[in-house]
Amino acid sequence: METVKTFLIEIDCPSCGHTGTAHASSRELPLKEAPTVSLDQIPHGFSLAQAATAQSEPRVLCQCGHQFEPPHH
Ligand SMILES: [Zn+2]
Repeated sequence: METVKTFLIEIDCPSCGHTGTAHASSRELPLKEAPTVSLDQIPHGFSLAQAATAQSEPRVLCQCGHQFEPPHH
């Protein structure tokens, strides 16, 4: 059984101060230590950056070009 939780993440660019609310969901699998978080909807001005590996956290690319990890819920 896996549990899917959906929540909102406030994204705040540390470089230019642009903010927005992303819709995210996390899947908690009993055999995994950490839940897998995926960003389902990215606010205007942000986009999803390509993750380095499949295991890494999703990263957000701001309109100013700054790339960072979204805050954890
Ligand atoms: Zn920015």
